[in-house]
Amino acid sequence: MLQEIERVLIGRDEIAERVGEIAERLAADLKRELEAEGSSEREHRVVLVPIMTGSIVFVADLIRRLPMKLSMGLVTVSSYAGETMESKGAHLRGDLPEGLEGKHVVLVDDILDSGNTLYLVRSLVQERSPASVRVVVLLDKKERRVMPIEPDYAGFEIPDEFVVGYGLDYNGYYRNLPDIATLNPDATAGAGSGGGGGAAV
Ligand code: 5GP
Ligand code: MG
Repeated sequence: MLQEIERVLIGRDEIAERVGEIAERLAADLKRELEAEGSSEREHRVVLVPIMTGSIVFVADLIRRLPMKLSMGLVTVSSYAGETMESKGAHLRGDLPEGLEGKHVVLVDDILDSGNTLYLVRSLVQERSPASVRVVVLLDKKERRVMPIEPDYAGFEIPDEFVVGYGLDYNGYYRNLPDIATLNPDATAGAGSGGGGGAAV
């Protein structure tokens, strides 16, 4: 399996350092917001919404650096890998988490690519009238964006290359790789960025 790794794009130490910086900024911004509304850090005002399955490693590292009362509500989104940009899309599997009304919601995903996934989830969350919505991603493929959405916090901007590791998969594998890496072209023959038809990514 590991001979299929082409090269490490972002190593584990660099990831850890950057996750720490994002957590610090996010925690400071949330604390400021809680202070402004007169809430304490011990009140339940913050809900993290990680998008399964790619965000699991990132969110596991992130939450342990957020020193405040928070809960988590998972969502799963399926992507269609359409032939054209127009036929690509995303839809929610199952329901949104309960109790987002009036909360500070933090959407967490591994990567912002076309933007279909986070645009969909953010729109659905906004219908629940949260106090605020933030978008946190580890990776940002800016040049691939189709939908009008930008991250509030992003770890690394990366070029249009298919990457795996640190939660990101190819056909369900490589999520356990501690680094973010590219795969040898023969390992990904036929893979487009953004996952397979109907797959939860
Ligand atoms: P978007 O909806 O913004 O196009 O991207 C949605 C999902 O596609 C991401 O949550 C991620 O799971 C998947 N994705 C996009 N680019 C990559 C990539 O380079 N590698 C992997 N493994 N998944 C990707
Ligand atoms: Mg995903």
